[in-house]
Amino acid sequence: MNSSAVERLCEIVSASSRIVAFTGAGVSTESGIPDFRSPGGVWDRFDPNEFTFQNFMKSEAGRRRYWELGRSTFPVIRRAEPNPGHHALVTLWRLGKLDCVITQNIDNLHQRAGLPGERVIELHGNATRARCLSCERPYERERIQEWLEAGVAVPACDPPCGGIIKPRTVMFGEAMPRVEMDEAERRSRASDLFLVVGSSLVVYPAAYMPLHAKDAGATLAIVNLAETPHDGQADLVVRGTAAAVLAAVADRLQARPASR
Ligand code: NAD
Repeated sequence: MNSSAVERLCEIVSASSRIVAFTGAGVSTESGIPDFRSPGGVWDRFDPNEFTFQNFMKSEAGRRRYWELGRSTFPVIRRAEPNPGHHALVTLWRLGKLDCVITQNIDNLHQRAGLPGERVIELHGNATRARCLSCERPYERERIQEWLEAGVAVPACDPPCGGIIKPRTVMFGEAMPRVEMDEAERRSRASDLFLVVGSSLVVYPAAYMPLHAKDAGATLAIVNLAETPHDGQADLVVRGTAAAVLAAVADRLQARPASR
């Protein structure tokens, strides 16, 4: 971790009062949830083209394949705990600095760390919930997991409905949630600091958000282990782990009076 870059980030955060944090899978790797693109990530083990919305909707076989993967990946999310990076963002909110988190993550860890639900905009949904596509009955994903582990291959809504149950995540090939996208763009444009944490910034349209913020005059800071395509537009790039960098920033801010 580059300590002068962290010190610079502290200065920028200290001078900001309407921060939007934009998080990706990298904020949760230190909670034990692998990201998609780092070596050993999910796409090293599964073919993304197979797990599309179209394949899920098209056939019972597509849904069976999807739930085979879901049965093995959900326990990873279920046992994960928020890490110091998630907690540091809660500290920024408590200090009156953070407007909201826009997240591509589906793991619910920002809320579990203590951010109120209305402060978290989920662009790709939430893996802890599911819903019947026919009658819209909500299901806890935990309950679906019990069915899968009891031998159900393709969960269906309780009788008499019998409709297709789908996790409340946005699958590849599925439309983005309109309300969340509009709200994310509005809040990005209204931010004074747009803070990217742990995102490769290659998944669109989510990756437009830093550009919207920058276009509207926000400072852009990126905390990520690897390079991103938006590094050239950033006012500050910090190479380091999300937990170490964010915790250092939150600790230093708490140790000194806020400038607002
Ligand atoms: P990504 O996998 O494309 O990129 C993650 C980035 O985080 C990489 O650039 C990597 O270098 C960086 N990184 C990894 N560990 C880090 C750490 N400890 N500190 C700082 N940086 C770190 O992830 P993405 O940009 O979020 O996009 C992939 C898609 O994957 C998203 O749409 C998201 O929905 C989904 N996803 C979510 C989860 C989750 O909910 N935890 C996990 C995997 C994938």
